[in-house]
Amino acid sequence: MTEQQLAFDIEGMIHEAAVEAAPEWSGAPLHFTTAYFSPAALDAAFEHWQFLHKLDYSRAQSHMWHRAITVPGGVDIGDHGFDFFTADLRCEPWKHDGPHGDCMCVGDLAYMATCEPHGWHVTAGDENSAVEGWHDHAFPGWRDLPILPARLRDFETVGLSKAAMQWIENHYPESMQVVGAPVITERSSMGTRHVPGRSPWGGYDISHTAVDPSRTIEPRRRRRTHEVALEPPRASATPTSIGLGD
Ligand SMILES: [Zn+2]
Ligand SMILES: [Zn+2]
Repeated sequence: MTEQQLAFDIEGMIHEAAVEAAPEWSGAPLHFTTAYFSPAALDAAFEHWQFLHKLDYSRAQSHMWHRAITVPGGVDIGDHGFDFFTADLRCEPWKHDGPHGDCMCVGDLAYMATCEPHGWHVTAGDENSAVEGWHDHAFPGWRDLPILPARLRDFETVGLSKAAMQWIENHYPESMQVVGAPVITERSSMGTRHVPGRSPWGGYDISHTAVDPSRTIEPRRRRRTHEVALEPPRASATPTSIGLGD
């Protein structure tokens, strides 16, 4: 027996003893669930699963809810709370003989947003839908908010440009200019993920595709003057104002 093997076995014995000594688990389920549990209960359950399976390298997936690393969690917004979780339900082909298709795996990622003060949660098969569901709960009416035109976004700076901030201040109802409130921005087909923390009030920057999926935006390109010249003049258009304000 090598020294390394010995150390490994001792670690295993210590872990086994720790598992045996641990009180029986009575928290949130140690597997996937669609029932509501508080964010703290979900965190505790996931942590406990990780403890139980610390040395079990054959089981990489718990299928349990855990924090989505791209989304900051535990935010209080007015009377509401926002916590965001993901669960990996993807196929683990090494667990069965045939390829995925013959198996019973759900085969996808799942997403969940919760509001702890109200004991509320929504689950969805994609991140955007879960985010939208949470806004339906916490910011009813958000789907009617004006869409910030893409031309007001400055793609060289992170976050919103000065012009965009000004536009939002002028166009958004005052009741929706509150901490955690979302902004809806026009996106090209390349970037339709809802981005947390990018509204002027620390809320979501929601892609326009959530409320107006039929609107399509050309990727940015230089305006070619002959195209403009070929366009029939529009009666209401004032050419000097192109680029700012609506
Ligand atoms: Zn709530
Ligand atoms: Zn499978």
